[in-house]
Amino acid sequence: MRLLQPARGTQDLLPEAARRHRHVTKTARAVAGLYGFVEITTPIFEFTEVFARPIGEGSDIVAKEMYTFTDRGGEQLTLRPENTAGVVRAILSNGLAQSTPLKFFYDGPMFRYERPQKGRFRQFHQVGVELLGVAHPQADIEIIALGQRLLRELGISDRVVLKLNTLGDPQSRAAYRAALVSYFLSRQTELSEDSRRRLDANPLRILDSKDPGDIRINADAPSFEDYLSDASRLFFDKVCDGLARTLHLSFELDRRLVRGLDYYTHTVFEFVTSDLGAQGAVLAGGRYDGLVELMGGPPMAGVGWAAGIERLALMIAEPPPPRRPVAVVPIGERGEAVALILSEMIRSWGLPVELGYSGNLSRRMRGADRARARLAILIGDDELNRGIVKLRDLDDGRQEEIDAPLENVVPGDFALDGLRDRLQKFNC
Ligand code: ATP
Ligand code: MG
Repeated sequence: MRLLQPARGTQDLLPEAARRHRHVTKTARAVAGLYGFVEITTPIFEFTEVFARPIGEGSDIVAKEMYTFTDRGGEQLTLRPENTAGVVRAILSNGLAQSTPLKFFYDGPMFRYERPQKGRFRQFHQVGVELLGVAHPQADIEIIALGQRLLRELGISDRVVLKLNTLGDPQSRAAYRAALVSYFLSRQTELSEDSRRRLDANPLRILDSKDPGDIRINADAPSFEDYLSDASRLFFDKVCDGLARTLHLSFELDRRLVRGLDYYTHTVFEFVTSDLGAQGAVLAGGRYDGLVELMGGPPMAGVGWAAGIERLALMIAEPPPPRRPVAVVPIGERGEAVALILSEMIRSWGLPVELGYSGNLSRRMRGADRARARLAILIGDDELNRGIVKLRDLDDGRQEEIDAPLENVVPGDFALDGLRDRLQKFNC
């Protein structure tokens, strides 16, 4: 029954997977914070034109990947396929363009109608950063350094390589585009159907084709390098220099690297792995100096990247497990009566508690095991009469008695300080 299946290209994040995702986003948020980036959250859907124009009619995203629909009020809306356009829209809508530089971090779901594969989904998730208002190559360097630091913190930097290229300024790009088109026209019949379609709309994107025939043709295509203006070349040299000489960050020049989106200028980069088959790009971005103006704002430089959380989550080692709880195990009715208040008190001390809901002692102990509890607190009639609890170390089975007059206890009572200190010593 379709009702019982997730839609194609979507997936449930069960606790284990959710923990991996959370580890990626938590790490990314922390690293972005080290560089002074603050979080922004924009809506999941926007008016279609927020994406269509900036991303470009000729891009794969706009041509065939967007989830676009008309809502009940007749508005044309699109589920965001990426977040840069949304962030720029938010800057303009909220009048933030005056107070540059702007440094934003985001995290959330994106939607693209693609053929699902390992590491490729229709609803996927990205973390990303955008730095606006800085035209200096220093911004490119810093943003790449941020990406690199994230990958290092995630423990995967030795399994990715940084690929770097420049698309130059709009003049260089236009000259190169013209040269490319005339080259591809001369070999038009050999191009794949997809690439023939791109010839008009987005010829640079042909360089990125994965079709074997296209790859052969691309090998002889003119090189961007020969069409770069002096200013573009100088800009790129500074970026390369800053990365290599100042930060000792290694990279490969990849003259075929172009980005799927139309709005990139100058620096483009990708951190690529061979661990994930064809889905090699884990973190990708570049400079987009024309975008803000294209969207109706003032001229404003911008540079940023986005990283696929699913792909990063597949690569990282097992993140630290959740803290192990204290199991509160009442035996008998009197025990049950105090178990709830005791559990609340332990939580107020900052420790996780698993309260066995029902059953006899052995059933509750199995529940404690299943919850990976570190300790169990046993409370039966005898313990209550004596004003103690039994504390069992579930790893070595050792048991001790601790003063804890539970029956008359009220929250905040000093009478349980001994128990609190003992529990906190276990540091679970
Ligand atoms: P690809 O070449 O793999 O299609 P892309 O160039 O379309 O990637 P970007 O738009 O640059 O990707 O998005 C940045 C990152 O988001 C990618 O490097 C990748 O890690 C991730 N990503 C993009 N599309 C998907 C998807 N459909 N499923 C999962 N992750 C994705
Ligand atoms: Mg893509």
